[in-house]
Amino acid sequence: MIQKKIAVFPGSFDPFTTGHQNIISRSLDLFDEIIIAIGAHSQKTSHFPLEKRLNIIRHLYKDEGKIKVDDYDNLTIDFCKKVGANYLLRGLRTSADFEYERAIAQVNRKMNDQVETVFLLTTPELTPVNSTIVREILRHGGDVSQFLPSGINLDDF
Ligand code: ADP
Repeated sequence: MIQKKIAVFPGSFDPFTTGHQNIISRSLDLFDEIIIAIGAHSQKTSHFPLEKRLNIIRHLYKDEGKIKVDDYDNLTIDFCKKVGANYLLRGLRTSADFEYERAIAQVNRKMNDQVETVFLLTTPELTPVNSTIVREILRHGGDVSQFLPSGINLDDF
């Protein structure tokens, strides 16, 4: 029997941006199922409540049968095992991302060699899009709509 290709795309998604959306749309053909999973365990305190972040992503992919949305508060690699995922999906923007991601992926592999980390390079024009900058613009009352998936109004969730 051919094993189903299940990927976990973990992140804070605080909030979910066009950069995240781009990684998902390019991964849809690669996997049978993608679980977008919000790690609620991170030391980072979030700007948007977990429920709001989940609801935005659920709304975006409500018609996409291959995508599930979940949250977890244990190790990402343990969450992969729990949901039967054999791939971990991450995006790479910069060389700083690479150094950080390399260490995590190698440690994860030491903990569970059944899970392969797959990296997609960012689409060039989306390299500068990141949740931290979006939050900073919001704090100063700026318009972030161009950095969010189209049709997403943060006040609606
Ligand atoms: P984390 O706190 O785990 O880094 P993020 O929500 O910031 O969570 O990011 C989740 C994933 O999405 C990471 O793999 C990150 O590299 C990727 N990502 C974020 N922004 C972009 C972007 N503009 N282009 C490509 N990948 C991105």
